[in-house]
Amino acid sequence: MTVQIHPAVDNGIAPTLAGFAGGKLVCACVDHPVEVTITSQTAHNHVCGCSKCWKPDGSLFSQVAVVSRDAVTITANADKLKIVDTNTSIQRHACTGCGVHMIGRIENTAHPFFGLDFVHTERSPESGWSAPVFAAFVSSIIESGAAPDQMGAVRDRLVELGLPPYDCLSPVLMDVIATHAAKSK
Ligand SMILES: [Zn+2]
Ligand SMILES: [Zn+2]
Repeated sequence: MTVQIHPAVDNGIAPTLAGFAGGKLVCACVDHPVEVTITSQTAHNHVCGCSKCWKPDGSLFSQVAVVSRDAVTITANADKLKIVDTNTSIQRHACTGCGVHMIGRIENTAHPFFGLDFVHTERSPESGWSAPVFAAFVSSIIESGAAPDQMGAVRDRLVELGLPPYDCLSPVLMDVIATHAAKSK
């Protein structure tokens, strides 16, 4: 049986559309869904195995991308959003009706990713968003209940999908963090 990673990648990854300039994200509520409007393409889309990112039911991984916070506006039913945990550096704003995380926002101006919001573009009716390109925090799925002896099969499947597995962020993003740390010394 093929290992299931995430619904957005298991049956083939939708390609990035050249010139795509954003769209809407909607939560899973039938009634008064929260709507977020994004006026830009996303970047660094990836699947994430950490225990904090929102995952669809039964999914081993989350799928999450970043976008400039200037390009993000909550355009409907903002009153349904609540920050899951105000103590984390990424404050995840979840819908209190359905549980979907609509934006992850960084309020600490000293954070290396300040200015970027984290978003789940699978919640968009539009296609053309940046495609996932790697898998982050793969070992962390064990903390959410994955069997340690399943990890070889998970990593093999990620490689097969073209999503190189890392147990932190990708080398590009780890370099961004280290560069930020070096500059702030
Ligand atoms: Zn909702
Ligand atoms: Zn995560």
